[in-house]
Amino acid sequence: MAKAPGFFAEGERVGVLTAQPPGRVLDYLAPEGGCQDGAFVEVPLGPRKVLGVVWGAGEGDFDAARLRAVNRVLDLAPMREEMQAFLTRAGAYTLTPLSAMLRLATRAPGLGDPPSMRKLYRPGDGQPARMTDARRRVLAAAAAFGGLGVTLRELCDEAGVSASVVKGLVRESALSEEDTPRDIAYPRLDPESAGIALTDDQRAAAEALRAAVRTRAYGTTLLRGVTGSGKTEVYLEAVAETLARGRQALVLLPEIALTAEFTARIEARFGTRVPEWHSGVTMTERRRLWKMAGQGGCQVVVGARSALFLPFRDLGLIVVDEEHDSAYKQEDGVLYNARDMAVLRASLCGAQVVLASATPSLESWANAEAGKYARLDLVARVGAALLPEMCAIDMRTETLPPGRWISPSLQSAIRARLALGEQSLLFLNRRGYAPVTVCRACGHQIGCAHCDARMVEHRFLNRLMCHQCGESVPIPPACPACGAEGRLAAVGPGVERLADEAAALFPEARVVALSSDLFGSARALKEQIAGIAAGGADIVIGTQLVAKGHNFPNLTLVGVIDADLGLQGSDLRAAERSFQLIRQVAGRAGRGEKPGTALVQTHQPEHPVIRAILSGDEEGFWRTEAEERRRAGVPPYGRLAGIVLSSPDLQEAFDIGTRLARNAAPLTSAGARVYGPAPAPIARVRGRHRVRLLVKAPKGVALQGPIAEWIAPVRGSSRFRLSVDIDPQSFF
Ligand code: ADP
Ligand code: ZN
Repeated sequence: MAKAPGFFAEGERVGVLTAQPPGRVLDYLAPEGGCQDGAFVEVPLGPRKVLGVVWGAGEGDFDAARLRAVNRVLDLAPMREEMQAFLTRAGAYTLTPLSAMLRLATRAPGLGDPPSMRKLYRPGDGQPARMTDARRRVLAAAAAFGGLGVTLRELCDEAGVSASVVKGLVRESALSEEDTPRDIAYPRLDPESAGIALTDDQRAAAEALRAAVRTRAYGTTLLRGVTGSGKTEVYLEAVAETLARGRQALVLLPEIALTAEFTARIEARFGTRVPEWHSGVTMTERRRLWKMAGQGGCQVVVGARSALFLPFRDLGLIVVDEEHDSAYKQEDGVLYNARDMAVLRASLCGAQVVLASATPSLESWANAEAGKYARLDLVARVGAALLPEMCAIDMRTETLPPGRWISPSLQSAIRARLALGEQSLLFLNRRGYAPVTVCRACGHQIGCAHCDARMVEHRFLNRLMCHQCGESVPIPPACPACGAEGRLAAVGPGVERLADEAAALFPEARVVALSSDLFGSARALKEQIAGIAAGGADIVIGTQLVAKGHNFPNLTLVGVIDADLGLQGSDLRAAERSFQLIRQVAGRAGRGEKPGTALVQTHQPEHPVIRAILSGDEEGFWRTEAEERRRAGVPPYGRLAGIVLSSPDLQEAFDIGTRLARNAAPLTSAGARVYGPAPAPIARVRGRHRVRLLVKAPKGVALQGPIAEWIAPVRGSSRFRLSVDIDPQSFF
């Protein structure tokens, strides 16, 4: 009998990948009724039943008589071949076992459970014998939801009644009550609904993106344009084209706080809200979205980097907004860069990628230069909005008392804004009250007990916190070293302290500090941001959180408190990051009708990076930076991989590092070099000592094979850990 390709009849040997150790594909027998390649199944593993995916024919080296059978095939859309290829390639690139990749791709609970049901209420055929106000409200609310149906809770909330009122109406058939699957398709968007009238610049860019989407083939476009130039409107056109072609679109954002503003824009444009995927989404909603992505029951998803691993049925477009943002790099567990993985995924499923940014990463800039990516530039801001004027404040010539950071020049600029009823933003990329707490009696600096890091005072929480491991302790009344009481002093500025300073200088102003740790929940933060946008603050003090995409129309002044802060790192991207961050923050000024100004406090106005920031000569900056990286043979003109060895025992980590450095033949024969071992810049985290090695190679060398061979002899243990970071973003 002819067998359908990719189908395994009952009793045939199949390979099954599970998300559990040992992480290899294991052989099983196909269940009654057979199973398809890619099918999600439940298999016995030791004493447990676990979720797995049929991963081709079995290997055949395990005794057939001892094989166990697949328990059952789950009622889920099978994993598509392109998704299998994506997990395989992404795992090979990041040197991650396939089981861990599958874990990323199945991060929704209860996938194997029977469909979960809930009761939905709709208008019924009957008339209630007796009408009351409460009943009238319920019927009106149910009518408003119409055929879509509404849950008991929503209906009661909406009508302001108790459940008994609803149940009474059900008994009289004035309402219908039906069990409905919880995981249902999302409302359809209308791809034909017109957006706002685009400028000529925008229209040309939008047409180019629409044409790219129509090819149904892979391609990547770098969409570059200053903040406020209307990039979002342009890529929404690409989303519309994707929907019109019946395909799905994914929009990645670097920050959860941005998703609400964005889904509101989608709703305004396409008529209905779209699902979000990030850590703040409830478990039931995660499962619904996961299933609907696979069945085609959702057209657009807005999410954080992990949304890239959703099982889309027909993904036609991936937008990576603020593509330069370092939040796209996952720094624990599987170390991947969502921007790069978006390009990989799109290339496997014939999708278009749009990388949007005002300040692209040097990697993307170089790919566009080399012709690998198309590039579209939006030059002007939309409407009256002009780019902010940028000026340096030379801190060497300003007089400030100790413990103060807002220079007289900046103060008078703020005062002028207050007089006009306009908003000012003071940017300082340091959370907390003060970065250092020192004892004035003995000079002791309070450090974290588990890390090689200082404890940061958070006066708002009345605690000292370690930004490395999250350890937090109450602020001690006495110095832990000498016991002197009342002598602990804060040194250096944090946003909380800056907020105090601003409040003291401008007692009549409404001052708001924005920092990720000042809010209990993402929702509280969203509300605060919306409040500021609506004019609820005069002076906003913020960390890099405020640099990202928020729209504050009445904000006309940005003050950068310490532009030199980011330049001090030894990080290869220090200059790039400072440039991007300060340009982004400055872009917050003057997005409405009124022009904006950005004042940059610095002790080194002649530093090339500061000069480039002020002059706004972006191409010039990229060219200079590219030249330096090329000379140094570092990314994007060379390859790097970071190896971190960690153990509670420093000697053990160093010994293993030294052994690796001495036995680097697999790397050297491939043309790579090893540097180290050296103590990591943060040499101890959570009680574990950290030692780093750095592997460096010319651009053409594929590092993964040689690295895998090189580290193969090293065994992890309960104490000792080795992690490989391909294309490291941070070097801590
Ligand atoms: P970006 O993503 O480049 O920062 P946005 O797309 O968010 O820019 O646009 C900035 C602001 O300008 C938004 O409030 C947006 O609604 C508005 N805008 C964009 N394009 C136009 C246009 N063609 N006409 C009028 N307003 C526009
Ligand atoms: Zn710590």
